[in-house]
Amino acid sequence: MREFAFELSFCAALEAVHPERLVARQLGASVHGKRVIDVALVSPGPGFDERTAITADAIPPAAIEADVGVGSARYYRDAFPDRSAGWAKGAVEAAVEAGFFETERRNGRLYVRQTARYPDWFDRVVGVENKPDLGRPGDLELQLRRDVSLALFDEVWLATASHVTGAHLNRIPAAVGVWRFDPATGARETVREATPLDTDGPGVEVLEERPGRTEIRTVGADAKHRQRVRLAERAYGKGWRVAAESFPACARCEVVEHSDRGPLPGCAWKGGLVHPEVECGPDCGGYDPSDPPEVDVSGARDTHSPWVADPAGRVRKQSGLDRFR
Ligand code: SF4
Repeated sequence: MREFAFELSFCAALEAVHPERLVARQLGASVHGKRVIDVALVSPGPGFDERTAITADAIPPAAIEADVGVGSARYYRDAFPDRSAGWAKGAVEAAVEAGFFETERRNGRLYVRQTARYPDWFDRVVGVENKPDLGRPGDLELQLRRDVSLALFDEVWLATASHVTGAHLNRIPAAVGVWRFDPATGARETVREATPLDTDGPGVEVLEERPGRTEIRTVGADAKHRQRVRLAERAYGKGWRVAAESFPACARCEVVEHSDRGPLPGCAWKGGLVHPEVECGPDCGGYDPSDPPEVDVSGARDTHSPWVADPAGRVRKQSGLDRFR
């Protein structure tokens, strides 16, 4: 089975079993490197309702990490002291678009404040690497060793459709849990439990491994916490579904409900779920130009997960670049 279809099926099944958690795909999962985790499962924490009230989008990390509060507005350059004026304006604009900053003018100078205090909104974060076919492992072993030594996730799991042998288990780190997942039925069987990782302490990031040489960087607890917040924000904004605007403009595209978790992009010509950005377009042999299907992806996510599509919001909307001039 193609990895993309496996991943969508797996996310659909996870969301069905854990409707109280956020399921998201393809998220940056390193501090200095380029690791991207296939799936993350984020458990809401005490401030989750406050978070959903701010915005349906991911709040940009620069805004979260800036020294800006709710009470009194701050000159925007002081909020990003190590950055250029252009960069700082871009960061302010992104934060305003996300509904997290509001701006005001004082004596012709731009001041910013938060629309709401950034809450402590998530608890556990589980990372899952998908490898439907263990006969083609690629970099699996190295990826999982990286995840365990950095310990960004509370648990790391491998999800596969393959029969898992003792030899497979011996090749991956002992802390990694293993699920066997059947994308046809959505059944998930635990082959081995995951061992909880120390997310509060420092970690070691493996950047590159070559024969006789391993490049690593230690990552402090603060940097790790920042990356967890970034990852959770991205998970909140992104989710796992294919965006409505990515559905192919092809007559052979079928809207698949897939265990009532849809709409997902399917293809009558190829059979099964398709990855539009990779598989669809004029280069595809079955491409038949047409209007893309009308789908309500946000509505499905809102219905089936704790994500809120249209928060009542406390943002006084500001729009247009004029506010920065
Ligand atoms: S472009 Fe190809 S893969 Fe995509 S829906 Fe059309 S026929 Fe299927």
